[in-house]
Amino acid sequence: MLMDFEYMFSGLSAFEVECKLRQIIENALYQKYGDKPDELIKKRIIDEWAAMERSDTVLDVAALYELAVWLKKNNHPYWMRGCAGSSFILYLLGITFGNPLPPHYHCPVCHSVQWETDYLDGFDLSKKKTCEQDKATLIPDGHNVPWQTLWGYGEHVPEFDIVLPKNLRDDFLVILKNHWLRKKESDVSVSLKMNSEKLSASLSNISFVFRLECSSIHKTFHSKTVDASCVNISLSAWQTLLDYYDGYNEQSILGTNTFADLISFSGIIYATGAWDDEAVFMNRYLDYAPSELIAFRDDIFHYLIVHGFLDKDAWRGMNYVRKGLDLPVITEEMKHSRDKWVLDRCKRIEYLFPKAHAVEYIMFRLKAAILPENTQ
Ligand SMILES: [Zn+2]
Repeated sequence: MLMDFEYMFSGLSAFEVECKLRQIIENALYQKYGDKPDELIKKRIIDEWAAMERSDTVLDVAALYELAVWLKKNNHPYWMRGCAGSSFILYLLGITFGNPLPPHYHCPVCHSVQWETDYLDGFDLSKKKTCEQDKATLIPDGHNVPWQTLWGYGEHVPEFDIVLPKNLRDDFLVILKNHWLRKKESDVSVSLKMNSEKLSASLSNISFVFRLECSSIHKTFHSKTVDASCVNISLSAWQTLLDYYDGYNEQSILGTNTFADLISFSGIIYATGAWDDEAVFMNRYLDYAPSELIAFRDDIFHYLIVHGFLDKDAWRGMNYVRKGLDLPVITEEMKHSRDKWVLDRCKRIEYLFPKAHAVEYIMFRLKAAILPENTQ
């Protein structure tokens, strides 16, 4: 029985929960990026907060934060599926594990931030760069995931999908039954799948799936830090990391030389239509690395931004392609630019995964089984 679960937001009004959560986010931002955060970081938080309010999910985020704190304190492993990892706010709150900002360096001493737009993933930046001001070794980070893939612009309600250990399910049902977010009996729904021990529950917009086997997860899960120093170990263990056991054949993807490639590789193998004869040809004979191909719905978003679309229109175009539809708007410039091959890819794609899902899964697997137990 989990008598020690602490409801941080019990008995508070929605407004009070919102104020408390804002304070927690501000403190987390201060801890990581100092009292004068970079303008782009400030804008990201403002945009995400507005999207959270628009989708009426502020309380869900507070509930997730409360659960994450408890899970970590009690050393229970978990990970967030789907689009959750695209939120910088969820990352700051420690709910998700991968930093979704564009690739950047940040200084642990003076908190200055340096954006590195030539890179596709922050973990691929040099680990030896030092701060000009105080000579501290800069921290490379950022997996470049747009927040829109989770929050959108009000057209859908974001879903939060948390995967938990099997052995927590009974205790969790007690936690959910007494939860402050639950206003009436029907707010917690539980489903037991036939012929299996799987059980899932939901509360508001949060789904809980109990399927992790703790015996296969390192006990030091939460004390491990996944950072740029983990790239070599990730690349050398990529098959185990991605649970990819297909034998080598003529259609195999070549060249996972960077962390960006590794993440894209996982998107390509789980997408529909992203890995066809044409993509194989590009990879094999034209030397396109996995990270240069279209692997995620987020790649379509970035492609449209590069071609001058506003965020909202890029997001809309991305949503068409990820569901197997054509781009709603194609400009003359796109038809004649060097990357016009993307237009043909868009026609062939039937389904694309969110990048956030791949990033969070890789972070989870690294912590659960790949990084050594004693890594701190
Ligand atoms: Zn510095």
